[in-house]
Amino acid sequence: MLDTQFDVVILGGGSGGYACALRAAQLGLSVALVEKDKVGGTCLHRGCIPTKALLHAGEVADAVRESEQVGVLATLQEVDLEKVNAYKDVVVSRLYKGLQGLISGRGITVISGSGKLVGPRTVEVAGTRYEGRHLVLASGSYAKSLPGLEIDGERVLTSEEALQLTAVPERAVILGGGVIGVEFASAWRSFGADVTIVEALPRLVAAEDPASSKAVERAFRKRGIRFLTGTSFSSVEHTDKGVRVSVEPGDDYEADLLLVAVGRGPFTDGLGYDDQGIAMERGLVVTDDRLRTNLDGVFAVGDIVPGMQLAHRGFQHGIFVAEEIAGLAPSVINEAGIPRVTYCDPEVASVGLSEPVATERYGADAIETLTYDLGGNGRSQILKTQGFVKLVREKDGPVVGVHMVGARVGELIGEAQLIYNWEAFPSDVASLVHMHPTQNEALGEAHLALAGKPLHAHT
Ligand SMILES: Cc1cc2nc3c(=O)[nH]c(=O)nc-3n(C[C@H](O)[C@H](O)[C@H](O)COP(=O)(O)OP(=O)(O)OC[C@H]3O[C@@H](n4cnc5c(N)ncnc54)[C@H](O)[C@@H]3O)c2cc1C
Repeated sequence: MLDTQFDVVILGGGSGGYACALRAAQLGLSVALVEKDKVGGTCLHRGCIPTKALLHAGEVADAVRESEQVGVLATLQEVDLEKVNAYKDVVVSRLYKGLQGLISGRGITVISGSGKLVGPRTVEVAGTRYEGRHLVLASGSYAKSLPGLEIDGERVLTSEEALQLTAVPERAVILGGGVIGVEFASAWRSFGADVTIVEALPRLVAAEDPASSKAVERAFRKRGIRFLTGTSFSSVEHTDKGVRVSVEPGDDYEADLLLVAVGRGPFTDGLGYDDQGIAMERGLVVTDDRLRTNLDGVFAVGDIVPGMQLAHRGFQHGIFVAEEIAGLAPSVINEAGIPRVTYCDPEVASVGLSEPVATERYGADAIETLTYDLGGNGRSQILKTQGFVKLVREKDGPVVGVHMVGARVGELIGEAQLIYNWEAFPSDVASLVHMHPTQNEALGEAHLALAGKPLHAHT
């Protein structure tokens, strides 16, 4: 084989692309991974990891502010964003180093540079053509804006520039109350900023169960995070000190900056996908449930495939495609079984169907719900967090949705996803013992109650 010919050529080294590369190499395939920036992609360098580091720093700041509530007398001096960034950057660079080690350890050829499809399974990088028996498209996504709303990178930012701020804004307006919007709102509020979220939909985190949105809104109100739901953005203008953001029907909000968090678009333009005849829909690559495009031997993974834009979905896509190429016939990925966590304070975690979706799918009479309040959970009381575990089940059937709100509930999603994906009945979970006192116990208690034998809950 020439060194420009591989079993698998992967275009893009983010979560989807590098996971595919690692698994394919493990399965004995020769792999070329084309990356124009840094392997690890959005999640590692501009997404999941840096934002969670900011949110953790925010949690520490809040813990100091609220320390007196637990009898510890401490005073918060200031949040030094440059030092927060240094901490965040160390986390990212350690993981980046580790990932590079994994990639080279598995004998994957990394081709640095911008790749373009010039044949059905040929990618050109800086004049050299790389051919794959199989091609995997994994070019990821970019932060979208609205028509006419220009990102200048200084006062009107996307999440990418927001991660590089060197000082905490005094006042910020955030356009978009989805996952990215509420996570920045939460972190910046913890750092002391005055935050206003503008969201066109009727509720924050609108992809979640309505009960979760309500709980987040209640908590944000308490935290002094202002949010305007059902409100459309009309314009932004620069002022001496920052920006003036106007919303329908005519109110203005002055702030140091505007963060635009209105979603992410697929990064597929100008990469030769269209020219090679790959079927696309609104810029996304159309695949079947085995992640095959319409071209033989060409697959797509991650954010460019219609569905939720999550790193672990990308990992799973990548592993799936590598195994498919190696002939292992992996099981099709169930999109609803992919866990979701929004890492604001309080956290929101879910897997499976929301109550409205389950109602639509099974009919209102065929489902049952149960909400267990974290007020009854010792560990949550110790942490002084409020929230709930809400279960949705098919009557006389398995649990089809788990929804949780509260500090640290993201860590409970592991068990919740097993319950959903293994189609457990409430009685199956009720017979398993949960450690006391943990927040995990709340999940056990909810299932005990739904199985008809509540312990620390009113009947
Ligand atoms: C602020 C923020 C926070 C997030 N938080 C979370 C979270 O907490 N949990 C979670 O699950 N998800 C989170 N996400 C989403 C997550 O980052 C994405 O779902 C994930 O990175 C998608 O992986 P991907 O491989 O499809 O694309 P990407 O990670 O975007 O990778 C695509 C790669 O392809 C490369 N590329 C593109 N075109 C070319 C080309 N022509 N030639 C060579 N290389 C190319 C890019 O440089 C990039 O490295 C977050 C995203 C953002 C923006």
